[in-house]
Amino acid sequence: MDDDDARSRRLRWFEQLFDALPMPVFIKDTEGRYVDVNARFIEAYGRGRHLTRDDLIGTSDFDHLPRPEAELYELKDRSVLDGGVIDGLREELLLEDGTVRFYDTTKMTVSGPGGEVEGLFAFSVPSETSDGVDAALVDSERRHRLALRASRDGIWELDVASRDVEVNARACELLDRPVAATTMTFDEVMALMPDTSATAVAEAVEAVIDDYRTTMSVRVDVVLESGRRAIFALQAAALSDAGRVTKLVGSLADVTDAVSNERRLERLASHDDLTDLPNRRLLIERVDEANRSGVEHSLLFCDLNEFKLVNDSLGHTAGDQLLVRVAELLRGVTRSVDLVARLGGDEFAVLAVGAPQSPGVRAMARRIIEVLDDAFMLDNGEVYTSVSLGMASTSADASADQVLRDADTAMYHAKRARDGVRIFEPAMRDKAVAEQKLQTEVRQAQERHEFCLHYQPLIDAVSGRITSTEALLRWRRDDGSLIPPGLFLPYLERSGMIVDVGAWIVDEAARQVAAWDRAGFDDLTVSVNLSRLQLLRVGFAEWIGVVLDGHGVAPDRVVFEVTETAIAGDNDLMTGTLSRLRELGSKVAIDDFGVGHSCLATLDELPVDVLKIDKSFVDRIGAGNETVLRSMLDLADELGLETVAEGVETAEQAEFLVSHGCTRLQGYWFDRPGPPDLVVERSVLGHPEGRYRAANGSVMSTRGALPSHGGSPIGPVSS
Ligand code: C2E
Ligand code: CA
Ligand code: CA
Repeated sequence: MDDDDARSRRLRWFEQLFDALPMPVFIKDTEGRYVDVNARFIEAYGRGRHLTRDDLIGTSDFDHLPRPEAELYELKDRSVLDGGVIDGLREELLLEDGTVRFYDTTKMTVSGPGGEVEGLFAFSVPSETSDGVDAALVDSERRHRLALRASRDGIWELDVASRDVEVNARACELLDRPVAATTMTFDEVMALMPDTSATAVAEAVEAVIDDYRTTMSVRVDVVLESGRRAIFALQAAALSDAGRVTKLVGSLADVTDAVSNERRLERLASHDDLTDLPNRRLLIERVDEANRSGVEHSLLFCDLNEFKLVNDSLGHTAGDQLLVRVAELLRGVTRSVDLVARLGGDEFAVLAVGAPQSPGVRAMARRIIEVLDDAFMLDNGEVYTSVSLGMASTSADASADQVLRDADTAMYHAKRARDGVRIFEPAMRDKAVAEQKLQTEVRQAQERHEFCLHYQPLIDAVSGRITSTEALLRWRRDDGSLIPPGLFLPYLERSGMIVDVGAWIVDEAARQVAAWDRAGFDDLTVSVNLSRLQLLRVGFAEWIGVVLDGHGVAPDRVVFEVTETAIAGDNDLMTGTLSRLRELGSKVAIDDFGVGHSCLATLDELPVDVLKIDKSFVDRIGAGNETVLRSMLDLADELGLETVAEGVETAEQAEFLVSHGCTRLQGYWFDRPGPPDLVVERSVLGHPEGRYRAANGSVMSTRGALPSHGGSPIGPVSS
């Protein structure tokens, strides 16, 4: 028999001996994980539970025992690993029937070939005083006290009979007590806590006393004798004697910082920084709860009208200030049971108890509209706001998202109808879906370069020539269809996209003028329509100067058209911008003149050059209803303003306008807006049916006539 055989036989025998030993034996590694255990250990350790060797190998006491108990064992193991053998350690094992069996345990380190500690080895001999429970208890108490004193964690022990609480030095520190003051009464401990925490502790202690298998784990607020407030985490498990719980042993940790961090993070995650209102996340949670509660709630979706204008004209600080005020007002007009939240931007929501049609909720909606339809004094000036409100009700079969979307949809309808508040109806949803689709597409339109400009000729009444054109925005979809601006411009304006798209329009129109220039059409001017948001941009006129310069286009080749509504309010700002455009050398035209609210009387105060008389006045020609039109033309003449008549559709209208001194004419009677080539073709060839007529009756040009502007070759004009 060689060495190996001998060794393996020896091993086999030792294994059999290991299991046959009448005492529990175990081996743990330095991390406290069981490396091997014998049959008696499994039996004792299992406490009646069915455990196998495999259940234990690789696991630690923390996987099987209440935490405080596992901590005690760990403490002892550590001292063996650090300091060598422990002999005659009295240990108790709790049996399933609640009785305790005592062992005298010997623990020693096991070492590797180089003498390094690889783990520990322990065997337990049933204690000789096993029947003398009292004696054992005395000993076990001494042992616990030792462990208590040694631990770096706060540890406490409650004696159920005497209600005395023993704490270790670390716990004294945590409790702001002298380190020697290790004994307290249970009542003293309870006095450190407000009622809610004290009740929680009392209940948890009772639960453990009732059933020794229960462990306690509570978080409590404490106010220490020093006045310091803290949050402690308490954990404990029972020690029992013959099924009767005699003590609770547990740990104590100060978790104040962790909890306050947790709470801060929670608040950050659920509240809006600026207004301190609950945010969308928290609202969604509450709407979810409301959906399930069986009590009908209303979700009021509030959106400030034209908030973007405040931001753009007065700056973001003013915008923020306004939002904070709005938050305060909303809190003020809602009831304490209602939740006010900020969804982001200028969107707020109220989750209110009651159906949207109920008197309470309706009154609340009215109040919201009332208090927000007001002037606000901000640091930078005064602003007027109003709000659009949409309401939807919660329902057991809706998701929170759905309710929010419905209220948003209703709000959108209220905003469009400009009537303050709307209650959601299912039919609104279809419209919203179509609108949503359009919005997405419009967004893509810009990225995909689907916008283009068409140009409509303006005919000079004196010469019968095309002296200028109006650039009109078109959207060419990939199916080839051409969408007029009426369908998407309102969205561009609402979303603010008009600023970017508008910048492109100016640039594109300038590029076109330069191209016409190169082709010899160097006296054509182009009219560009501007939206209010563009005019509100700081340095807009200066930017225009740069763009025109970049294309080598003289500013006097461009007319900027603005409507009366676009320049309403903010008088200084608007007139300043318009004046600067004129100083640059461009002209300014009032578009759709006559339909806005600014009256003829203030016209001479506005920095404008051209009046574009709205189509509705042109439409009245021939119906004996031309008085207003005539006085507009007279007034313009008096003020030295040029006039353009828009929407000329008949010969009669054209004749009337020419004979009454209108400067220029524009309309389908002459040409519909078309691609840039149309302007070139018409400038050269005139109108195919001879409709461009001078005031003296002569026709400007007929088909086939030669160009009169110098005859430079007209190549295809790029667009
Ligand atoms: P607008 O500035 O008053 O432009 C004139 C509109 O009247 C154009 O409609 C034009 O096609 C139409 N029109 C011209 N002659 C006639 C006519 O004889 N009869 C009728 N029924 N209509 C005629 P369009 O191109 O659909 O533009 C509508 C509005 O969209 C414009 O009204 C303007 O306010 C806005 N818009 C167009 N292009 C732009 C742009 O580039 N920027 C900005 N901000 N707004 C634009
Ligand atoms: Ca226009
Ligand atoms: Ca117009």
